[in-house]
Parts: sequence; structure tokens; C-alpha cells
Amino acid sequence: MMSEETIFSKIIRHEIPSDIVFQDETVTAFRDISPQAPTHILIIPNKLIPTLNQVTPEDEAVLGHMVTVAAKIAKQEGIAESGYRLIMNCNKDAGQDVFHIHMHLLGGKNLGKLVH
Ligand code: AMP
Repeated sequence: MMSEETIFSKIIRHEIPSDIVFQDETVTAFRDISPQAPTHILIIPNKLIPTLNQVTPEDEAVLGHMVTVAAKIAKQEGIAESGYRLIMNCNKDAGQDVFHIHMHLLGGKNLGKLVH
């Protein structure tokens, strides 16, 4: 099983530069280096979980917290009313590139319909 640290662990520990918008004991949120929308922020657990397939019932609190934090950041970014999208990619078919689970918060423009 892949459970090696990624660049995101370095971001959590402030070992490399990043634009952190929120951090507490459980999660870290920072601006995506290659934004796909005017607001593009990644929300990650401080604990390393490589993919959604490794999530266990003990992780339910942290995953719930990621959603709460995402909604709070959306408000701060001024996109809560206009709308936004939360995305988590798992493995190859979803194009997961970094093996430390992360929630994409995208908004600030019309994102189009993803699922019809
Ligand atoms: P995914 O394709 O879901 O694995 O998303 C990985 C995301 O991480 C991409 O949107 C990248 O642009 C982003 N990313 C990779 N390295 C960094 C970094 N050092 N700082 C901020 N975002 C990054």
C-alpha cells in the first residue's frame, strides 16, 4: 500500500511555501498551485490517508470537518451564495495525482454541470 509522504505533508509542516488559508489540529487548506477556477483551494487532513480507499470509520470526524471548513472558506471567499463545487478524486480513472486525500473547493465562475 502506498503510504509515503507527499508534498502535502511538507505544506502541512510549513516546510515549503504555500498559500495556507486555514489550518487547525486536524486539517489544512491552501490555494491550488494551478487554479482551475477563480477560487481553487485544497482542503486536506493533517493525517496522511493516501486515497479514499484507505478511509476508515475513525476518519469520519476529520472528513466531516473537511466539509465544515470548506463551507466556511467558501463564505470567506465570497462564493457561498453564487455557488461552488467540492471534488475528491480517487486513483487513476479520476486523475488523482497526489496520494494524500484532498478536497478541491472550486468556485467564482459558472462551473457548468458535471452530472446531468
Ligand atoms: P488531484 O489531481 O486531485 O490529485 O489534485 C492534485 C492537485 O494538487 C492539483 O490540482 C495540483 O495543481 C495541486 N498541487 C500539486 N502540488 C501543489 C503544491 N505544491 N501547492 C498547491 N497545490 C498543489
